[in-house]
Amino acid sequence: MITGKNYIGKELSAQGSTVFRTINPKLNLENAWECTEATVEEIGRATALAKDAFKMYRNTPSADRAHFLNTIADEIEALGDELIDTYCQESGLPKARAEGERGRTVFQLRAFAEMLGNDDWKGRSIDLAIPDRQPLPKVDLRKTMIPMGPIAVFGSSNFPFAYSTAGGDTASALAAGCPVIVKSHPMHAGTGELVASAIIAAAEKTNMPNGVFSNLNSKGIEVGVQLVQDAKIKAVGFTGSIRGGRALLDIAAGRPEPIPVFAEMGSLNPVIITQKALEKKGEHWADIYASTITMGTGQFCTNPGLILGIESDELDAFAKNLAEKMVKVDPTCMLHPNIKAAFSALKQEVSSQDGVSVLSAEITNVDTNYADQCLVTVSGSAFLSNPKLHNEVFGPFSVIVKCKNQAELLEIIEGLEGQLTGTIIAEEEDHSSLPIIVDELQQRVGRVIFNGVPTGVEVCPSMNHGGPYPASTDARFTAVGIQSIKRWIRPVTYQSFPKELLPNELKNG
Ligand code: NAP
Repeated sequence: MITGKNYIGKELSAQGSTVFRTINPKLNLENAWECTEATVEEIGRATALAKDAFKMYRNTPSADRAHFLNTIADEIEALGDELIDTYCQESGLPKARAEGERGRTVFQLRAFAEMLGNDDWKGRSIDLAIPDRQPLPKVDLRKTMIPMGPIAVFGSSNFPFAYSTAGGDTASALAAGCPVIVKSHPMHAGTGELVASAIIAAAEKTNMPNGVFSNLNSKGIEVGVQLVQDAKIKAVGFTGSIRGGRALLDIAAGRPEPIPVFAEMGSLNPVIITQKALEKKGEHWADIYASTITMGTGQFCTNPGLILGIESDELDAFAKNLAEKMVKVDPTCMLHPNIKAAFSALKQEVSSQDGVSVLSAEITNVDTNYADQCLVTVSGSAFLSNPKLHNEVFGPFSVIVKCKNQAELLEIIEGLEGQLTGTIIAEEEDHSSLPIIVDELQQRVGRVIFNGVPTGVEVCPSMNHGGPYPASTDARFTAVGIQSIKRWIRPVTYQSFPKELLPNELKNG
């Protein structure tokens, strides 16, 4: 049952007077449950508990932490329809999506539990002493990883499960041995509280220390700002907009003790389509991209918002075809009235820039909070000279850029801000001319895709989800897959240590 309260450790608490309700975007009505924003005192209590909990939690055996993670997964599944219904009511997303995303969230938790089956993830390194080395003896050096401390997690609006309360950031931090305080997303606070209740239930069942997890409601940014400024917080995980991630990065850098912020943010996800691909499979790719751009109402960080080709009749035909197919898709509901308002405003801003033509026919009679998908086109030179065309329009929107020639295409790729993904659509005949494009593209992105779509982020060790700034704040780390644990651990070297004082994974044998 949703209480609207905060979890300060295992205690439900609502001492504040600032209350808010989430919105059902399909009905354009407030949901029944009222949520109470965390107070300054409650935030302080959550971080103090997390600091205390860290002393015990960092030393829990891996097998116990794995049991905790698996129990969280069980408890989330046990929430059943109440959780799925709340997710749908707070996001406007369909039931099948809710169930799929719950499956992914549970899978992530179980994958980290499995990873804890051995200590390989710590990447230990052992250099034995060489006492008789000349001219100087070599000392015994052994390196392993330790958890960093309490982590603040900010989830995104568009993944109420997989990138939120018990999403990848929380799962990886708990696996690492770090307590977590979630700053709940105000658009799905009820869903967040239910998931938090599952984590608390699991913590109690597996005897984890009180404070290993807390969940704070917020109506505005103040709760998150206080959390990141709190000296007891040692790192931040964020998924959301560039503006939000950048604000938290600056706050964290301005602390007396700066801390890392691992923010996964927005992206245009450029797609490069070759002349040969247009000639041979233009129709096929228009079909695929019409459904990809509109899937999930375009509310994916990997949504393809930029398509680059070299001007030709075939590119014009592809653009016309894609626009026609896109408008045939029934409009779907956006996550929240504010997301819809931002989509409409940004779409209008990009569409009204000099040299931009709107290709898609206007969709009329769109329900409140539903998105009217849109495709626009612009020349390479206009794109190069106008930074407003480089901004992410979060929703079912894409820009086709008609480049004069390959040199202009390469100039555009080189000038792009950092991106999560870059896609190349090509035919076999193109292969010999592609290395130069791949070389330029991989400088700007975290994942390069060949003849596919960027949406759909597989959860597995070889996935990299991140990219040069502003796709993420640290391109060296992935936010998806078990290697995302590396964000919450740091190396420690033990020099000349007696065996009994070494961590187990560093002992001989
Ligand atoms: P958002 O508006 O940035 O919100 C994310 C969270 O950060 C919310 O809890 C928000 O709280 C908080 N926040 C935002 N600005 C803040 C500030 N200045 N100080 C403190 N807290 C702040 O993003 P969103 O609407 O949830 O998500 C949509 C965006 O996320 C899109 O741009 C999308 O591309 C991106 N995204 C990226 C990924 C990825 O993996 N790279 C995945 C999914 C989504 P308030 O709402 O209270 O401000």
